[in-house]
Amino acid sequence: MSTTTTPNTAAPAAPSYPNQVTGMWVLARSLVMMGITDMYGLVGIPVTELAYLCQEQGIRFYGFRHEQQAGMAAQTHGYLTQTPGVLLTVSSLGFLNGLTATTNATVNCYPMIQISGSSVREPIDLQQGTYEGLDQLAIAKPLVKAAYRVNDIKDIPTAVVRAYRAAVSGRPGGVYLDVTTPCLGAIMDREEAEKLFYKPVDVVPSMPPAKSAVERAMELIAGAKRPAFVIGKGAAYAQVENELKELVEKTGIPYFSMSMAKGLLPDAAPLSAMSCRTTIMETADVVILVGARLNWLLSRGHGKWDKNPNLKFVQLDIDPQEIDCNVPIAAPVVGDLKSILTEMLAALPSYKLSIDANWVPSLQAESKAKDVKFEKRLADAATASPMTHWTALGVIKPILESNPDVILVNEGANTLDDTRDTINMSLPRHRIDCATWAIMGMGMGSMVGAATSTGKQVVAIEGDSAFGFSGMDFSTACRFNLPVTVVIFNNGGIYNGVGVNMSEKGQAPYGDPAPTTLDIKARYDKLGEAFGADTYYVTTPQELDKALRACLVSKRPSLIDVQLAADSGKESGHIGYLNPASLQNVIV
Ligand code: ADP
Ligand code: MG
Repeated sequence: MSTTTTPNTAAPAAPSYPNQVTGMWVLARSLVMMGITDMYGLVGIPVTELAYLCQEQGIRFYGFRHEQQAGMAAQTHGYLTQTPGVLLTVSSLGFLNGLTATTNATVNCYPMIQISGSSVREPIDLQQGTYEGLDQLAIAKPLVKAAYRVNDIKDIPTAVVRAYRAAVSGRPGGVYLDVTTPCLGAIMDREEAEKLFYKPVDVVPSMPPAKSAVERAMELIAGAKRPAFVIGKGAAYAQVENELKELVEKTGIPYFSMSMAKGLLPDAAPLSAMSCRTTIMETADVVILVGARLNWLLSRGHGKWDKNPNLKFVQLDIDPQEIDCNVPIAAPVVGDLKSILTEMLAALPSYKLSIDANWVPSLQAESKAKDVKFEKRLADAATASPMTHWTALGVIKPILESNPDVILVNEGANTLDDTRDTINMSLPRHRIDCATWAIMGMGMGSMVGAATSTGKQVVAIEGDSAFGFSGMDFSTACRFNLPVTVVIFNNGGIYNGVGVNMSEKGQAPYGDPAPTTLDIKARYDKLGEAFGADTYYVTTPQELDKALRACLVSKRPSLIDVQLAADSGKESGHIGYLNPASLQNVIV
């Protein structure tokens, strides 16, 4: 005998607003209560109305063309503001696309909350094949700092507070908040809902270090003959530039800044040892890591450091689990950087430093010699035709250095390395790049997030390959009329455009491109035209100079397609060594 069941798809009765509200309304209000002012996302079932309600509640909603880029905008917002960037995604694929960015935020210690609608639980749990059915919470959990699901409308305010606290307290990171469709659509009396909201107390508690830890570190520093600071983006995030400046000035200890910490203290300054990375690794006797991890970007404490057996590390970090993760740390100081540096400054008068009189002058002499060599490299490339990376950067360097308040977003291989090495930064948090994972595919999202969260002008210098990952979201910058300029270094390929297809399919009549080959003739400026941007196609240094200056003056969404030589650039810029040994002599 067959039975007929009513499918569980009947729409619930409509709420009678304003006396009744839905889960979406409660969620929007909860975000407002936490001070959230911006949301990045891409709508669809079941969260479209949520975005509208957020707008209604005064939150700016930045709609993107791809969730990964919305997420990159949210993570950049988090990094620059010390408050979680919020990403809104739909279920299944939208969730997964966004999760890429939430994971990247977690890896980079940026505070971010991904809120995703998810389908009805019952058929997901029984794997019955429902619309966009995916166990999103289970998937997110191992990849993010914290993950929660909210099923009951009355729990929404608590869920938002928990997500917020998890994202910004301690070591910041990405948080996933799963909100089921029934919860989003649940109805309650507005009067009852209003009673649920509250403002949590002390959301980012300060975490002062132990006095003994500060003393241990200060003793080590005081006894050092060749000390150096290595400053990381944790210090940039913590906004400790004033404390660091005072400590550097009072101690006379030189510093080296990791990529995104550039500008926290100026790159071009007497105590900057930006050109002396190897010397510091091989000869410093005490290195003070300030919000910088001894991860692969610092050879995990080995490589060149191994030539320096007497070196001792002081590490200032908020996460106790970071200490000793690669090499022994002689003086760990665990706490928040603001508190740590304040206490170190307070303790400083009780210590007498013993820095070698030669240490800083020798670093300065080395910097000077390296700078001369670098200038020569730029000068030698100044008239190259077609242009190389160095030709273009020789043009861009003086323009950006004389406009220090422009935020620089940067991704690519050679485009990343060469731009980082060439352009000196002089203000904190003005360089945003692909960071800890050295990924590609953050450019347009981070550019938008940097502009929206700071109100500043942004220039994104992108390799042609890097731009491809997020190019469509240049249109988002145009729709929101942001003061952004994208500069695309087109050398026609991943790394470069001279790869050779090793099979007969590379020959006529097929002509399949090599794996690294893109399009040296592509006119990226035409893409900008489609969205109403000011666009430029430049083939000479003079044209590039004129175009970039015009963009900075206009403050309009703009795109400069910079035609480079196809053979400009080598595989992976500085990190080709990470490849396995080659079998064939691949040309890149
Ligand atoms: P970089 O890539 O510039 O070397 P990392 O991202 O590797 O920087 O390291 C940043 C470090 O800063 C992380 O270990 C993180 O725990 C730490 N950190 C982040 N915020 C704070 C803070 N407020 N106080 C202290 N340490 C922090
Ligand atoms: Mg390229």
